[in-house]
Amino acid sequence: MEEGDVVVLSDEVQNFAQWIRFGDTANLLGLAMAHEMGHVLLRTLGHSGEGIMQARWRPKDLRDSEHGLLLFTPEQGQLMRNEVARRVLGRLGAQAPQPSRKSILQAVIVDLCALDRSCKTGN
Ligand SMILES: [Zn+2]
Repeated sequence: MEEGDVVVLSDEVQNFAQWIRFGDTANLLGLAMAHEMGHVLLRTLGHSGEGIMQARWRPKDLRDSEHGLLLFTPEQGQLMRNEVARRVLGRLGAQAPQPSRKSILQAVIVDLCALDRSCKTGN
């Protein structure tokens, strides 16, 4: 494993889902994956007091998740989009012509915004 790698053990998630009697194991696995990717893209091991980046989800959070209501905060969403943009531009490097870099980055941001209700394209 390298720095920035994420490991989510599906067996552990399944066991946890059974322990807390949460029937939707696939949903819980997705939440765990999103949470861990949040650590990578937010570049922190820290947690927040609300949303998907909480250290522990409460029963209400898990019920909310079944309705798509356990989310990153708008600020976290913006930080993650910025980090993805930084990484994309870093990979494109200086060789890519400027118009190409800009159009690729815009396409990435639009794709990410499709996953984030708080995102407004053009930010
Ligand atoms: Zn965490």
